[in-house]
Amino acid sequence: MLYGVGASAGIGIGKILCIQEQNLDYTAVEYQGAKAESARLKAAADAFCEITERMAQDVRERIGQKESEILMGQVMMLQDPLVTEQMEEMIAAGSCAEAALDTICQGYIELFSNLDDELMQQRAADIQDMRTRMLQLLLHAQSIDLTLAPKGTVVAAKDLTPSMTVGLKKENISAIVTQVGGKTSHAAILARALEIPAVLGVANLFEQIENGQTAIIDGGKGEVLVCPDEKTLGEYTKQQQEQWRQKELLFIYRDKQTQDADGRSYDLYANIGSVSEAQAALENGAEGIGLFRTEFLFMNRSSAPTEQEQFETYTAVSRIMQGKEVIIRTLDVGGDKEIAYLNMPKEQNPFLGWRAIRYCLEQTDVFKTQLRALLRASAVNGNVKIMLPLVTDVQEVRAAKALLEQCKQELKAQGIPYDEDISVGVMMETPAAALIADLLAKEADFFSIGTNDLTQYTMAADRGNAKIKGLYSTFHPAVLRSISHIIKAAKREGIPVGMCGEAAADPLLIPLLLAFGLDEFSVSVSSVLQTRKWISGWTQRQTEQIEREAMAFSTANEVEEYLMKHSVR
Ligand code: PEP
Ligand code: MG
Repeated sequence: MLYGVGASAGIGIGKILCIQEQNLDYTAVEYQGAKAESARLKAAADAFCEITERMAQDVRERIGQKESEILMGQVMMLQDPLVTEQMEEMIAAGSCAEAALDTICQGYIELFSNLDDELMQQRAADIQDMRTRMLQLLLHAQSIDLTLAPKGTVVAAKDLTPSMTVGLKKENISAIVTQVGGKTSHAAILARALEIPAVLGVANLFEQIENGQTAIIDGGKGEVLVCPDEKTLGEYTKQQQEQWRQKELLFIYRDKQTQDADGRSYDLYANIGSVSEAQAALENGAEGIGLFRTEFLFMNRSSAPTEQEQFETYTAVSRIMQGKEVIIRTLDVGGDKEIAYLNMPKEQNPFLGWRAIRYCLEQTDVFKTQLRALLRASAVNGNVKIMLPLVTDVQEVRAAKALLEQCKQELKAQGIPYDEDISVGVMMETPAAALIADLLAKEADFFSIGTNDLTQYTMAADRGNAKIKGLYSTFHPAVLRSISHIIKAAKREGIPVGMCGEAAADPLLIPLLLAFGLDEFSVSVSSVLQTRKWISGWTQRQTEQIEREAMAFSTANEVEEYLMKHSVR
């Protein structure tokens, strides 16, 4: 058994296809003179650009704009006059086309990979991918075409390169295993978007597997079983079929309304981080977007997205959602979400430091750019709402609203349309916000409870620290009381209240949340149908009894144990 990071859930079974670096040795290539070498380089570059543009087009349609832009970035790099000039200079000085390309690319790869910045490392990997494919073209070497991989292929690679994304289709690729990458890496996001089970970051992968071996990948647990015996294979095949069956069964909930067993309606929304996820959300029956994590737009690049870029993204999401509500959270940077080019100072306690709304209220240029983009997008479909993260103080909401007002005035002066009545909501994810929920409810148009952070801050237990994971529990009476209190405060003030933390999709907590009076559940795209099914099973009488009994316990363990017995159906 090999272990890695479970990056995309599900069981995948198939035959391993190892994608290892090819031998692209060009030392035997003879120099044919500057003119001929230059012509060879140009022919290969033209072919590369043509193929890559076609790939980018396919990826844009199937996966998303961002993945396609990575490929177009390779084309732009190859066509960059400075890069071309450097290669031509080497050819003029006696290098063959392969050597010129390789040397210049290696220079950039070294430059970028030596920088302590995830984005730059990614850029180095992109150039590496371009270098390999250009050398393949120059040397007439076979390139790996995953579109030709037979059904049931388990792709095993050091990392997923941008050009591999083209061939990744769940019709023929049953799972992905890589040697590098974690839960939030590009490969992980891609695998989840494509719904292909994936285990990433398996150390010394290629020393432990071979081409053609049968492998079972459990993308939920992060396990890879190589050459399983018949009995194990049978068990996992059964499990896999059961997962598929469950998925199919859930499909009947796709076009249903979200109602409990008494016929009370709720809003069931999805959490997304990209335009392509909005498409998946709609296809999975989400009734809106309850949380668009915009920090993803700021990651994997070297500068902040412009107002126009952001406007286009927000508009694309609201168009895809066809008039349904889209709640867009303003930049939630800092804490565990680091964006290198923003040059935020290193802090002793980043989770308690200068982050999210605190950062935005000081870096008003970054914040106003986003607010203007949001306002402009609100004019297109009129269903865009703004949500502020990590609020602890009423003054933060007022200050954000004042900046929003400034942006409105600027847009008005420029004759640019926006929704004058755009809603501004508050994420309830700090104990301070929970304790002043009544005061915040007077300032906010809606609440959304972020239980991931609310649990961390209420329990004073880092959400990423395995050592104290027992303390990090949403079942703790302190967290549950806090949730109940927030919902009641919202009700008293007459504003809608949702939940976009992971707890909204927890079957143990759903009856409690229903009893508390939550209006909207916002869950990950893959949990939408399951959540609708869970909600549909409860009557008000049942949930009220669960609330009474569960809230009488003193510890998280007691609550959880009780809910395990009474909540699962
Ligand atoms: C939360 O804190 O519950 C939340 C939804 O936001 P994030 O996980 O992005 O911090
Ligand atoms: Mg949060």
